[in-house]
Amino acid sequence: MKKIIIILSFVVLFSDLSFVIAQDKVNQKSQCIKAMQSITATECLDHVKYLAGKECEGRGTCDEGFDKAASYVADHFRDIGLLPLMKDSSYYQVFNIDRNMILDGNEFSLELLLKSPSGKDTLEIKYQLEDDFLPAGVSSSCDIRINVVFAGYGISSKENNWDDYKKLDVKDKVVLILGGTPPVKDSDFGSLYRISRKAEMAKNAGASALLVVGKPIGTISTYQSIPVVTISKKVADDLLKGTAENIEGLKHKMKQKQRSNSFNLKHNIHLKVNSELITDCQTMNILGYIEGSDVVLKNEFIVVGAHVDHLGAINDHVFYGANDNASGSAVVMEVSEAFSLMKEAPKRSVLFIAFTGEEMGLLGSSYFVENSVIPVNRIKAMINLDMVGSGDDAIMVVGGNSFPEFAELFDTLTSQYVHVPVKRRWASSNSDHYPFHKAGIPAVFLYALRGVPTYHTSKDRPETLDPEVMENVGRLVFMTAMKLANKESISFRYIEKGK
Ligand SMILES: [Zn+2]
Repeated sequence: MKKIIIILSFVVLFSDLSFVIAQDKVNQKSQCIKAMQSITATECLDHVKYLAGKECEGRGTCDEGFDKAASYVADHFRDIGLLPLMKDSSYYQVFNIDRNMILDGNEFSLELLLKSPSGKDTLEIKYQLEDDFLPAGVSSSCDIRINVVFAGYGISSKENNWDDYKKLDVKDKVVLILGGTPPVKDSDFGSLYRISRKAEMAKNAGASALLVVGKPIGTISTYQSIPVVTISKKVADDLLKGTAENIEGLKHKMKQKQRSNSFNLKHNIHLKVNSELITDCQTMNILGYIEGSDVVLKNEFIVVGAHVDHLGAINDHVFYGANDNASGSAVVMEVSEAFSLMKEAPKRSVLFIAFTGEEMGLLGSSYFVENSVIPVNRIKAMINLDMVGSGDDAIMVVGGNSFPEFAELFDTLTSQYVHVPVKRRWASSNSDHYPFHKAGIPAVFLYALRGVPTYHTSKDRPETLDPEVMENVGRLVFMTAMKLANKESISFRYIEKGK
């Protein structure tokens, strides 16, 4: 009898306990959903309005506007109770960089030679900043009236049997080139399409300045090359006046003949660029974390990050960077707040980072990985957000093909909570997840597909965004990061493209 009583009470106790555990799970789940629902379109948009508003002046790395954005994020981290990761109990990981500043006073005009009874007359056509031309981030200063020579794609590449500078004298001239790479069959020009690489080739050929045909969009750089300006196709066609050529025709010819084309142009240009290289200016990543609740697993981290820097301003054109990447920063802030609302933290620690210097070449994320305050091998997964403010077609997971189990988490959780299609791409080096990926950490980068086409222009403003997209991305990232932080073990398979 006694035995039966003991067994009976054990059964009662045990079922009680399993009831409590089950109840706990239900509570935790409903708490989780409640926290997820705290991420709203309105709150995301409020953050974007500040970060991409007048106050932050385009958040150019080392500009006052960036520092204001950084303290806005740090204040938020402090207010919601995130812990500082730095040894000095600061939310800032400070370091120095060089930055080439494009200052005010940039001008570009064409001096069109006209035939007139009196001989030669010139008509000056002045061009508009951004619509017609824009100095590149690497540009040095100049104030020149000068001859122009057309030099194909501005590429010298032995491997691809292509040399736009062969037998061409560009000394003390401005070189006009096409953007992109030559249409050579079975060629691989690697990174030679980059303006920075083309600037070096023009410099080596002895050119005074470089004009690149393409959409004039903003860039920002750590160093100075020769004066470099992007010009629209319309302006390039103006420059070709009197030669019987136009840009489309030249492209077509080079494709047909599979060889370069170069010649002198008839008219002079006036180009004025005003820039200054600032060395050793101070900038910072902003870091805050939630400590895990499991005695062992709290030593491991899940990182959720986004770059908060953008391009600053040129003349009175501010590159507000609402979609790129006030949107991602806003989502990181909202996701961190949702975590802070949980009564019990997840097992692992979750670290939130707003990176600096992304637009200058992933400077902040690289610095973080190379100078991490925590051993990098304790970071078990990383989610990066870049341009998540517009485009409700689908959410792209860059690196999803490379880490299929990681991508499956997004698939499962979107079907449960967000109901936005999730697509996958192979890993790439185009945003702040990359330094983590290189360090062997499963890292993915999320962006919203088919957003507004305002990339790196002054039109990238808060009013062009669809804040619902940020809400969806935020909720999905919160649930995924939560799942990762509570997972017993994380060992994602890595598949290399083509293998
Ligand atoms: Zn970006």
